Amino acid sequence: MLRLRITSTAEWKVRSGHPWIFAESIKSQSRSGVMGELAVVYDKWDNFLAIGLFDPYSPLRVRVLHAGKPQTVDEAWWRGRFTDALKLRDGMFDAATTGYRCIHGESDGWPGLVLDRYGDTAVLKLYSAVWFERVELIAKLIQEHLGVPGMVVRLSRNIQKAATSETPTDGAVIFGPPVAGPVLFRENSLIFEADVLKGQKTGFFLDQRENRMKVGELARGRSVLNTFSFSGGFSVYAARGGARSVTDVDISAHALEAAKRNYLHNAATTGKCRHELIKADAFDWLAQARTQFGVVVLDPPSFAKKESDRKSAMDAYARLAGMGIDRVERGGVLVAASCSAHVAWDEFFGLVRSSARKSGRRFSELAVTGHPADHPAKFAEAVYLKCIYLQF
Ligand code: SAH
Repeated sequence: MLRLRITSTAEWKVRSGHPWIFAESIKSQSRSGVMGELAVVYDKWDNFLAIGLFDPYSPLRVRVLHAGKPQTVDEAWWRGRFTDALKLRDGMFDAATTGYRCIHGESDGWPGLVLDRYGDTAVLKLYSAVWFERVELIAKLIQEHLGVPGMVVRLSRNIQKAATSETPTDGAVIFGPPVAGPVLFRENSLIFEADVLKGQKTGFFLDQRENRMKVGELARGRSVLNTFSFSGGFSVYAARGGARSVTDVDISAHALEAAKRNYLHNAATTGKCRHELIKADAFDWLAQARTQFGVVVLDPPSFAKKESDRKSAMDAYARLAGMGIDRVERGGVLVAASCSAHVAWDEFFGLVRSSARKSGRRFSELAVTGHPADHPAKFAEAVYLKCIYLQF
């Protein structure tokens, strides 16, 4: 097996449970190493420290699977790790919610891999090529333990070029019936579609489930503005919650078409609430808007994909919050979310609160929220989702 030694700082991090070893922390290695092979890390006393998956091309050279006592990573080990993730979610969801995350990357011990379930379809998303050779094994574990009839694999853009004729391609059905388009699933009894073949991430933003529920509870009798609406999740909950009207703003026509369909899938509960769809850049639209709303949702994509984007991302979040607050009517609520791991919890809430103070309006803080339980975050860099509720 490939053997590595790493710097003492890296040793300390790995011991404390951090799952990433970067190329620059590797002091020596027994040979060059190939994509996806197991690498064993020894500490400075030559004792076993950790075992992980090796990627010779990524600056993130080893994704740690286990640190502590020596372990043999074989099929039985993977099975244990798979069932551990499922056990964690045992009892979290009933038949009203058939869309949820089964494996959430590093924090479930599967670095660079996500597994979502949408009703009868499992969607495996790979963010690292180290997983290519293990897709068949994962398919077997899904069939054995998750019991869904179909499975699709998705590849993040950065690894699509690493795919070969031997590896699965983005959107490939690994087992089960052919998938022709979006698949349907339930979330808190509402019906949504997930574009599992072509959509962003795995086709839907399951991480916002609890915030959507809260917005549904706040919506009664209010008009709701849903910016960066994607497939309209917040709006469907708001309409069920008794909103007077819901307005989706998104730059993507494709997303708005899905929003329209999601609204119709729930016609029985969204019935009388007016639904408006606006295709626009949310910044431009907010800058010229004059109407105020009872609830304003700001849920943009990540503005900071890397650490160097942090400053400009903070400015963009602040500008957005300022414009969002201007759209909140008296007594209304601003719901501002960030999914950028590079902008910390305190920084994000700090900038939204400061935008609220700058508005000169009286406001009170109703809540802040973080990750739902099916999206655990066990180390600092894994924390990305945060949301704040301010009433004006
Ligand atoms: N709130 C959604 C998820 C938002 S994902 C939910 O609960 O499901 C981010 C969305 O922002 C995507 O649909 C993308 O098309 C849209 N988007 C990205 N940049 C935008 C912009 N400048 N203006 C409006 N929408 C934008």
